[in-house]
Amino acid sequence: MEPVKKNSVLIYEEVKAVKFFLWTFYIILVPYDFTIYYIYPYFNNVKTGLPYGGLGFYFHLLLFALLPLAIFIIKKGHPEKVKYMYFAAFIILDTINNILIYWGTNREFNSGHVLEVYFILFSPMFVSKRFFWIITLGFSLKYLTVGLIYQSAKVLFALGLILFIGIIAWILLTRFQSYLHAITLMYEDMREKEKLAVIGQMATAIAHEIKNPLSSLKGFTQLQQEKDKGDEQYYPIMLNEIDRINAIVNDLLILGRPNTAVKTPKSLMEIIEYVVSVINPHAQRKEINIKYDVNNSTVLLCDENQIKQVFINLIKNAMEAMPDGGMVKIDSEVKGDRTIISVRDEGCGIPPEKLAKLGEPFYTTKQNGNGLGLMVTKKIIEEHEGTFNIESQLDKGTSVNITLPIVR
Ligand code: ADP
Ligand code: MG
Repeated sequence: MEPVKKNSVLIYEEVKAVKFFLWTFYIILVPYDFTIYYIYPYFNNVKTGLPYGGLGFYFHLLLFALLPLAIFIIKKGHPEKVKYMYFAAFIILDTINNILIYWGTNREFNSGHVLEVYFILFSPMFVSKRFFWIITLGFSLKYLTVGLIYQSAKVLFALGLILFIGIIAWILLTRFQSYLHAITLMYEDMREKEKLAVIGQMATAIAHEIKNPLSSLKGFTQLQQEKDKGDEQYYPIMLNEIDRINAIVNDLLILGRPNTAVKTPKSLMEIIEYVVSVINPHAQRKEINIKYDVNNSTVLLCDENQIKQVFINLIKNAMEAMPDGGMVKIDSEVKGDRTIISVRDEGCGIPPEKLAKLGEPFYTTKQNGNGLGLMVTKKIIEEHEGTFNIESQLDKGTSVNITLPIVR
């Protein structure tokens, strides 16, 4: 699981947690010790007072002395350090106290503090696995050491308690983390969608503006070409480039428009046959072989032109990944009420760290690429209630797998 990134909101949350922690720490410390060392002995007719020979009230005084330091650290912007400081201070003072009280005496060890339970039980509040492990192992270590030194059976009880409470805290902690993670993912997803929406609106606006001048530019270029019959050098390039702009504009328009797919039942085989027949001349020039083995009876409920666009995009990518030629293979397989279609190539592959970037607009590794093809593909597939995933092995090839619902 990825660690949740710290930002100002999370720091604020940490401050809130620390404040709560500080309040409860002292609220538990004072009444607990008062009850244990004064009220309880008083009603049982035992001598009242803090254990003989120990730090006495200095134990509490020193813990209270931490408070201004804690406030200072929070003000300095490091609230996450306070809990460690308290744990360290507590365990150090407690150890000193115990040594002073028990060392060289034959008193039975009897020094668990409710704050230990409190530390562990409330650790999930900080949503930090490190803190959890440090305190749980820290307190366990304390009791193990004490157990070895004093051979006391009471220690076993304390260890059991720590284990039990530790498990509860662990469950809470992992639940919190998992929730946080889910919320982070949701938030990122939302941001991504917002980003796409803005890009979409911009793109449609610009594309609309460009389309008209572009088509007249193309018309006049063709006219001019007719006139200049002799010059065959530059006109084809100009027309080609205009077509390229046109393709980009069309991609942007697809991305920007709301879902306008008009779905009718269409044979998958016919779509693939058509697409391959369009691309084959280009493929042959690049020594690329396109093979398809598609289920003949599969019928898609789809917008034919859009699904054609999907396969054109995927096959073009596959071809562009194999500059020295190779094979593109298209397979389909029916699974329940869906068909899985894969477009496989033997090309350069995609490094794992780049795989995540593929959905992003304008991400391209090609000199002449625009980084919109996969986005358009994804959008169309999603509008057809399909799924889309890419598997790739560096230098071995890539397989783009899509699933689409079929008509029975
Ligand atoms: P473009 O083709 O214009 O670059 P795409 O959105 O179609 O934009 O693809 C984005 C990037 O994904 C490509 O630049 C390429 O790096 C990578 N890619 C897509 N398909 C493949 C493939 N079949 N093999 C290797 N890389 C691919
Ligand atoms: Mg492409």
